[in-house]
Amino acid sequence: MMDTKEWALIDSHEQTTKLQEIAATLQAGNVVAFPTETVYGLGADATNEQAVDKIFKAKGRPQDNPLIAHVATKEDLAKLVDAYPPYVDQLIDSFSPGPITYILPSNGTCAENVTAGLSTVGVRIPSHPVAQAILQTCSFPIAAPSANTSGKPSPTTAAHVKEDLFGKIAGIVDGGKTGVGMESTIIDCTSDVPIILRPGGITKEQIYTVVGDVIEHQPSTHTSEKPQAPGMKYTHYAPDVPLTLVHGNAERLQQVIHAYQNEHLRVGVLARAQLKEHIQADQFIPLGTNLVEVATNLYSCLRRFSSHDIDVIVCETFPKENIGVAIMNRLEKAATKIIK
Ligand code: AMP
Ligand code: MG
Repeated sequence: MMDTKEWALIDSHEQTTKLQEIAATLQAGNVVAFPTETVYGLGADATNEQAVDKIFKAKGRPQDNPLIAHVATKEDLAKLVDAYPPYVDQLIDSFSPGPITYILPSNGTCAENVTAGLSTVGVRIPSHPVAQAILQTCSFPIAAPSANTSGKPSPTTAAHVKEDLFGKIAGIVDGGKTGVGMESTIIDCTSDVPIILRPGGITKEQIYTVVGDVIEHQPSTHTSEKPQAPGMKYTHYAPDVPLTLVHGNAERLQQVIHAYQNEHLRVGVLARAQLKEHIQADQFIPLGTNLVEVATNLYSCLRRFSSHDIDVIVCETFPKENIGVAIMNRLEKAATKIIK
């Protein structure tokens, strides 16, 4: 067990001493979890291979899954990459700081294990005031995947990080609940037309308004093929209880619930709050009333189901528009079964 230090940093103002302590901990090659506007990140100096290696160990993350490098400003981003297409400046000026990651040609500044040996690097400028304050205090980029055990739902509070990583990392910065609740959009900017590799906080509708031409990556059915976003091939976001995703209305959901209950299974339901009065199950956890709330609450709701209380989660589906695309992407990965 390692000593895990905890810093409360809800507001980054007048917290110079704490920020310097956090920066010094990172500078010394340690791993620290911190809040961003998407989910909590598990950070290390992106130029220090040994430090980055500790992220993989703490999470149990496969080595061939590259990490995103976080920087405070566009100028800092420029220090990590080679020449890129002109539309990237338009995207950065429109959406950064914010929940979007650009895949760009790497200039080799980040350690090999950040890029998993690829010639490209994923870079993001987060907007969360605490993430910004930490990045501005550090003189190096911070590599950070989500601060959860690999395969589990991403953490949206410091308590989730503690659940998974206490005693395994040097520190946790508590900045309260994160906002978007979904990871960043990942956009490959290495060719003439940008390609969305992972839907996230910035929607394709928003991207269209800026660049007009954008391709949505279609997940490959050939699992042996080298994936473009290497993380895509791994299990993700899995709750402790198996999850069945059900297409259809409340009535359809109720049929599925009854079928499970007839098999003597205890059923937990994950759906919008307005469905509660139409559904009878062993447990009902409301996700919120609209897509934005569902995105914010999804991971924490997934973590609330325990195998002590229920045997299966039944979850409704959402329209694949705006942030709904990211929600459905995560739910399809979290699901063990999908009923059309
Ligand atoms: P996360 O697991 O949320 O930290 O997201 C990191 C994801 O970013 C990885 O799983 C990859 O899918 C993607 N990624 C990071 N760097 C690259 C890169 N150089 N090329 C392609 N995808 C990348
Ligand atoms: Mg993750």
